[in-house]
Amino acid sequence: MTPTPEDLAGAVLTIDLVALKDNWRRLNALAGKAECGAAVKGNAYGLGIAPVAKALWEAGCRSFFVARPKEGEELRGLLPEATIYILDGLFPGQAEFYAKLALRPALISIEEAREWAAFGRVYGRKLPCAIHVDTGINRLGFSPAEFDGLRDDRVTMEGLNVTLLMSHLACADEPSHPLNRRQSEAFAAVRARLPGVAASLANSSGIFLGESFTHDLVRPGIALYGGNPTRNVANPMLPVAILEGAVMQLRDVAPASTVGYGATWTAGRPARIAILGAGYKDGVPRALSSTQPNGPAQVFINGRRCPVVGRISMDMMGIDVTALPEGSVKRGARAEILGRHIGIDEAAGWAGTIAYELLTRLGSRYARLYTGLESDSRA
Ligand SMILES: *Cc1c(COP(=O)(O)O)cnc(C)c1O
Repeated sequence: MTPTPEDLAGAVLTIDLVALKDNWRRLNALAGKAECGAAVKGNAYGLGIAPVAKALWEAGCRSFFVARPKEGEELRGLLPEATIYILDGLFPGQAEFYAKLALRPALISIEEAREWAAFGRVYGRKLPCAIHVDTGINRLGFSPAEFDGLRDDRVTMEGLNVTLLMSHLACADEPSHPLNRRQSEAFAAVRARLPGVAASLANSSGIFLGESFTHDLVRPGIALYGGNPTRNVANPMLPVAILEGAVMQLRDVAPASTVGYGATWTAGRPARIAILGAGYKDGVPRALSSTQPNGPAQVFINGRRCPVVGRISMDMMGIDVTALPEGSVKRGARAEILGRHIGIDEAAGWAGTIAYELLTRLGSRYARLYTGLESDSRA
């Protein structure tokens, strides 16, 4: 029999596209009358732009946000009819590239606005774009004063087809942070100065801040992919990424034996260790090693959580399965490192990072399995 990629890879990443679509529908419902778009930058947060974009389109999503024009080019090839915004704005001299692919830059400065308007004149029509106003995160965008300058620059404004006015929240994941209200008020003021244009403020967490944040279009990313957009509340989203490592070997270690590089973990009693075929090359952060202070990190196998022991290596990691019935963990069995039992936010916490970084750093060596798109597919 021809082996499947899962048979040969050691670690398996399953992307549940049914859960992804369900998450989009939940956010769409929560957003009320606002349209629900999707942030699919960074290869859809590491989960694979092609299957993710297609699944979101099937669910009903029509507006997509990527960071770079290169990402926009790839997405355009996948979704010919989608509305695509480039969050990093207009790259110098690249207006023609954007126009040919119908990519809409989220303009961040008067220079970009003038370049886009001037190109539109040459091209023969006003080209669609967003205007990105910075209301307090102090990264990209027009300051409110610069936005006024643009609005009063009639020549430039007449050369633009502004389809969206947007801003981005700095602290949406901290509902009580005072910056949320300040940004919301600043955005409302900016909006009032450009009436008749659709507006967008909320990322995933922003959707949960209430009606005054959702405006006309919301731009969730992490919540679509199963990250918890709320704080100190059970995750309302379904897990999408499931990473499993296969058991390659089981071994019994005597008290005072150590496991792994650096001999950082010492058995305090006779212990049964399982070695999984997943390591930092596969995207399991080395920071999940049992020496880190927030842990020990855990994996889920045979209905139980088991602690990581020792350091995560490039290709493998050890877990302590002593608590499981003897003989119950078999060679080839799979342990869940991320997924339905071990949430991405929980694992990220053990590794001292956030779910966003954990997902975007998932490696490429494991077998990738996509479930729930027309027919199940491998990649
Ligand atoms: C990445 C990004 C989003 C999505 O953010 P999440 O926190 O993942 O929901 C929305 N808007 C902008 C401008 C972004 O850069």
